[in-house]
Amino acid sequence: MMKRFVSKFPRWTTGFRKFDDFLQVEPKSGSCSTSTSIVEGMRLYGTSCAKLTDAKLTENVSDMLIDSFGRLHTYLRISLTERCNLRCQYCMPAEGVDLTPSPQLLSPDEIVRLASLFTSSGVDKIRLTGGEPTVRKDIEDICLRLSNLKGLKTLAITTNGITLARKLPMLKECGLTSLNISLDTLVPAKFEFMTRRKGHQKVIDSINAAVDLGYNPVKVNCVVMRGFNDDEICDFVNLTCEKPINVRFIEFMPFDGNVWNVKKMVPYSEMLNKVVGQFPGLKRLKDHPTDTAKNFRVDGHQGAVSFITSMTEHFCAGCNRLRLLADGNLKVCLFGPSEVSLRDPLRNGADDEELREIIGAAVKRKKASHAGMFDIAKTANRPMIHIGG
Ligand code: SF4
Repeated sequence: MMKRFVSKFPRWTTGFRKFDDFLQVEPKSGSCSTSTSIVEGMRLYGTSCAKLTDAKLTENVSDMLIDSFGRLHTYLRISLTERCNLRCQYCMPAEGVDLTPSPQLLSPDEIVRLASLFTSSGVDKIRLTGGEPTVRKDIEDICLRLSNLKGLKTLAITTNGITLARKLPMLKECGLTSLNISLDTLVPAKFEFMTRRKGHQKVIDSINAAVDLGYNPVKVNCVVMRGFNDDEICDFVNLTCEKPINVRFIEFMPFDGNVWNVKKMVPYSEMLNKVVGQFPGLKRLKDHPTDTAKNFRVDGHQGAVSFITSMTEHFCAGCNRLRLLADGNLKVCLFGPSEVSLRDPLRNGADDEELREIIGAAVKRKKASHAGMFDIAKTANRPMIHIGG
């Protein structure tokens, strides 16, 4: 079995019996360096990380969404399902995850009721995540209902793109305003290794379909892992040349079951070094205060290049995100284990005021920042497949 596997993917899997082995490999001498030799003199820009305390911005936001550090939480990520049509190795443990029984998951009516509570309190952006949100048969209906919520400006989705090309025209009709498509490699065989499924071309087709339908930018999320896809960084940057694609390089993050290892994490400084080495015309763009990304554009390119530096330079000071999980738990921080159920009080007849109190208390308990990458790796958290990133 292993022999067949290695001979099928010779260049980057040699010596790795399984993903865990791949994660334990020592970096080549000097390759884990955070040296800024090429970018010497060029600032490793941080995100803006401003708090939205400006009176204009706060006037439409209820106290329920403001934490004890003055951060306004106007962005809600809703996980629509724990199911996925891929089995990405960094997202899901090899043995799979226990799925919550269906009756314990939020119904479409409950999702819309809670979303409405958030939008009426000041949330103006909702992102649908999973699992893989497009595996839901009622995804179009949910989009339509959410896009009609008063106060909502952006309805986004994060998807693996496997079925998106087919569904996107209808999703657009139903009010989907922006999308992020995950793609970690431009090599079909690597895709199959990482996701344990075929489908690379379908993802490429979805990216092209999104461009053709006028989405601008089309965001492509790429988790960079040493020895797996760090040799493709500049190939990804080339995607931005002629199309309005925003390639977003994401530092590899620890989640339950993904066997995170610091040696596999390629730091922002090293990624930037590689890009500047090949694209000297790389220019820094201005970020929005709550942007998680450090944004750049290569001179003459239509699209943009961004870095999500959650591990080496966190952006918690500008955090505006809350997460509603498929089972109805509210999670105030991606890397914090604390969760509170909204489903249970909802099903026990809580009115909006009672739900607002529960949400407000959870938001007020939110910590200033995550605990740092080594502590996160030791902290119990859900697998990524449950949280939706
Ligand atoms: S780690 Fe938590 S506080 Fe920091 S940006 Fe992510 S969700 Fe926000």
